[in-house]
Amino acid sequence: MRCIGAYDDAAVPSFADLAAVSAPSRRAALKSMQKEVGAACVKYEAVCPDVHQLGAIATTASERTALIEAYDKRSAAIKRLLAKMIDTLPAADLDLCPYCSLDTNPDLDHFLPKARFPEFSLHSRNLVPICTPCNRKKANAVKSKTTGQRLFLHPSVEPSNNAPVLEASLSFKKQGVSVSYYIDDGSGLPQEEGELVRRHFSRLGLNARYSRRAQSYLASFKASIAGKPNVVVARTLKQKISTSSFGEPANGWRPALFRAIVPNEAATLAWLQS
Ligand SMILES: [Zn+2]
Repeated sequence: MRCIGAYDDAAVPSFADLAAVSAPSRRAALKSMQKEVGAACVKYEAVCPDVHQLGAIATTASERTALIEAYDKRSAAIKRLLAKMIDTLPAADLDLCPYCSLDTNPDLDHFLPKARFPEFSLHSRNLVPICTPCNRKKANAVKSKTTGQRLFLHPSVEPSNNAPVLEASLSFKKQGVSVSYYIDDGSGLPQEEGELVRRHFSRLGLNARYSRRAQSYLASFKASIAGKPNVVVARTLKQKISTSSFGEPANGWRPALFRAIVPNEAATLAWLQS
């Protein structure tokens, strides 16, 4: 749940650039659609992030195949141009999925799925580097079937501020600690965006994924200081608290975990020393 901004315009290849270096068998089909695809991309930019309002353009079966394969079977030249574009994101955003801030981002997600919107298969703002688990969870979903509301934050513009919206609660037990995550009501985000954050959080299964990561982190922290004098354990916990946000996204699972530990420091310490 992190805004990663847009790619540097100077490094964004145009559809014409990409069509020109696509596989020769697709080149003519792509070039013939340049006008329609260009117009669709202008509309995408005009309504972004609310791109779920867009309808797909009309394409023949062979045009659709050419557009989808231009990405799925992309040439080495297209891969190079897209890699150069992705490299213009800030360094901190290059290796961490903006949807979850949990895992690295080896996949390039189509925010509007190319199976449903082939015209955006190569549109820069529609291409978001995300992790494989988020990509799998997101699949071809765009909006709620019942309400029509958008399901996911668009990381090129949302969340619209960097206030912490993710919080955690802790429950200590003899055998371990239970951590559960939720979206804070008082996050300062506009109401509609706050509701969107909740849908994003829920649809990507982030509570369960963050909880597993946090519980495993705390268990290994406890194991690493087992048998140490109480004073050392207390000092180590204080150090962890004071450095927990360094280099981490505000809405990462770890800063949220430590925001929950601060008011529960005594209970956390007792659990670590038990
Ligand atoms: Zn992710």
